[in-house]
Amino acid sequence: KSFKELGLVEQLIEACDRLGWKTPSKIQAEAIPHALEGKDLIGLAQTGSGKTGAFALPILQALLEAAAAAAPPVQHSFFACVLSPTRELAIQIAEQFEALGSSISLKTAVLVGGVDHVQQSIILGKRPHIVVATPGRLVDHLSNTKGFSLRTIKYLVLDEADRLLNDDFEKSLDEILNSIPRERRTYLFSATMTKKVRKLQRACLRNPVKMEV
Ligand code: AMP
Repeated sequence: KSFKELGLVEQLIEACDRLGWKTPSKIQAEAIPHALEGKDLIGLAQTGSGKTGAFALPILQALLEAAAAAAPPVQHSFFACVLSPTRELAIQIAEQFEALGSSISLKTAVLVGGVDHVQQSIILGKRPHIVVATPGRLVDHLSNTKGFSLRTIKYLVLDEADRLLNDDFEKSLDEILNSIPRERRTYLFSATMTKKVRKLQRACLRNPVKMEV
């Protein structure tokens, strides 16, 4: 199948083209049509499968649709939140969003440890569309950065969910889930389906479509 046959709009097909993505990867071919129908997703997939594109493309399409439908000056900032267990993965995810969104002035923020809080607060002040974060640092900003909230988030991605569920992150994760409206879509990706992931899935997702690659 082609990206067009998955239901993506021309702008995003061109973005894939620019990145040299000629055909959808397996997880993209399975996930994107369901995501565009508004379904929650569970993807059992490893890094390297193209899972970032599988969630980024439907989110960008929803953002484009929301922007087209809105009367200005609606900005659609803080549209999606992606949680990652590591800073390296968070940075890679944000880079893929930016590459795919380069023609639509997409703004992303990366909130990870080891980087100055103040710098990150300034970036949040620019009202990014996409926030990619590790759980601890996101909770820090929720408590300490004035004016920042997740109340407008429409899409939540739990990436490498099995690794998000370690003891360090569990408390932060609870707090984050309580800060994001229930009226949202949720995409959960994990390398393995563990007991804890299943529990998270039941708590966070609604009638998800499950796929494994
Ligand atoms: P990921 O599994 O999301 O970390 O992606 C792994 C790598 O595959 C990244 O460098 C992507 O740029 C690349 N990639 C993602 N989707 C495609 C595709 N459909 N065709 C070719 N490369 C892709």
